[in-house]
Amino acid sequence: MTDVERRRGASPVPAGWDYAPAPEARDIVRLKERYGLFVGGEWREPRSGERYATIDPASEEPLAEVAQAGREDVALAVAAARDAFDNGWSRLPGSERAKYLFRIARILQERSRELAVLESLNGGKPIKESRDVDLPLAAAHFFYYAGWADKLEYAFPNRRPRPVGVAGQIIPWNFPLLMLAWKVAPALACGNTVVLKPAETTPLTALLFCDVLRQAEVPPGVVNIVTGDGRTGAELVAADVDKIAFTGSTEVGKAIQRQLAGTGKRLTLELGGKAANVIFDDAPLDQAVEGIVNGIYFNQGHVCCAGSRLLVQESVYEEVIRRLKRRMGTLRVGDPLDKNTDLGAINSRAQLEKIEALVEAGKEEGAEIYQPPCRLPEKGYWFAPTVFTSVAQSYRIAQEEIFGPVLSALTFRTPDEAVEKANNTPYGLSAGVWTEKGSRILWMAERLRAGVIWANTYNRFDPASPFGGYKESGFGREGGLHGLEPYLEFE
Ligand code: NDP
Repeated sequence: MTDVERRRGASPVPAGWDYAPAPEARDIVRLKERYGLFVGGEWREPRSGERYATIDPASEEPLAEVAQAGREDVALAVAAARDAFDNGWSRLPGSERAKYLFRIARILQERSRELAVLESLNGGKPIKESRDVDLPLAAAHFFYYAGWADKLEYAFPNRRPRPVGVAGQIIPWNFPLLMLAWKVAPALACGNTVVLKPAETTPLTALLFCDVLRQAEVPPGVVNIVTGDGRTGAELVAADVDKIAFTGSTEVGKAIQRQLAGTGKRLTLELGGKAANVIFDDAPLDQAVEGIVNGIYFNQGHVCCAGSRLLVQESVYEEVIRRLKRRMGTLRVGDPLDKNTDLGAINSRAQLEKIEALVEAGKEEGAEIYQPPCRLPEKGYWFAPTVFTSVAQSYRIAQEEIFGPVLSALTFRTPDEAVEKANNTPYGLSAGVWTEKGSRILWMAERLRAGVIWANTYNRFDPASPFGGYKESGFGREGGLHGLEPYLEFE
């Protein structure tokens, strides 16, 4: 043993740089054993008589029992929303509606820690994301749309806007409270009432939101929450609503569109994506690597606009992949409630199986897989950050939405080839461009068929900025002034 080693051994300073566990306390969240349906401002037992357990995907422990709303339950919720629409909410002056929305926004801020911990518990996402992204953005959405509530006639001059009626809203499990905010805030600002169905696996923040509604004294029936699986969603689509707003898979979106054709019900669809994150050789590479990591490993890759196809200019490809692999080695996978965790749990067993199947397909088709060494917890649903190289455009991992922490890396030589490859997908939700040339950014943005294009950054959201897709990524916009239109009719 050398002197240096002996001295190190005797030193009280730890030899490595491992993080100590830093879990967020979970006792701020007080869960009920079982939840009913929130209809007309009251908790109701489900007439269906059915319930199921919602779990923590990081431990597979049950958290609470929630109701599986059936046809009759959905009809009651829609009737409560209709009643609230006809008898008050739609006729309130915009400044009064704004008052409620501002209250909701402030309460979300006041209770943000509680809601963030619950979001991480029920959904598996790292606490630093639910605390620093989901909650601030959810509150910001309510603040933003509160501001529009009494200015609709200025937003659409000479068009006399009026609300559509009762909106049925169906949301996914990747950003449960944020998707609720994206749907509920503009609907209420425009004078509509809503029936919202959260995803089967992540109902708890929507149920806690009912408490927020009560605290804000929102009139009964303005927001109704019905929990359940896809069957409840299908009942809501078929119910007597005036509009459906759906975020989820392209497959279910298409089925809803078929079902609504000819009914006169309005529809907006925010569906899947397979975004290209395009790195040119003049990009600042370390920043680009951060953008790649944020683009695909944020929220375990459960992001419709995830930068899941990496397109790197050939001359810098080896270098980018080398730096990316090194950076991946520093990502911490584990307890979602630990403040140092970068990747939390996969949302459900079903989603984990889907990711595993597509990764197997990638290997079989001939792509090369890389996963940094990392120890995954034994219980719960986990998947290590993954990058595939030697990927061909035709491989399933380059075509299909994996919705997990799996990146497919491809190369290009010229800007034209980058555009061609980036657009070679049935989707068109988002894209990223990394270059130091402003003119090239604009040139690319004109040609990329995507609803959102980020330049030298990725996964940035702002309530004032519209979000939505082309092609199989859906239609309609959420956020910004554009996000008001789906909830308005014009005389
Ligand atoms: P779904 O499209 O099935 O789920 C989205 C929402 O729709 C959920 O609330 C779901 O309920 C509900 N739903 C399911 N079936 C119906 C139906 N027939 N009628 C009305 N509503 C319905 O997505 P999954 O959760 O099954 O995820 C599957 C894949 O979809 C993912 O792997 C991912 O690729 C993609 N996806 C994309 C999202 C996006 O933001 N673009 C979000 C979520 C998923 P329930 O949760 O009970 O099934």
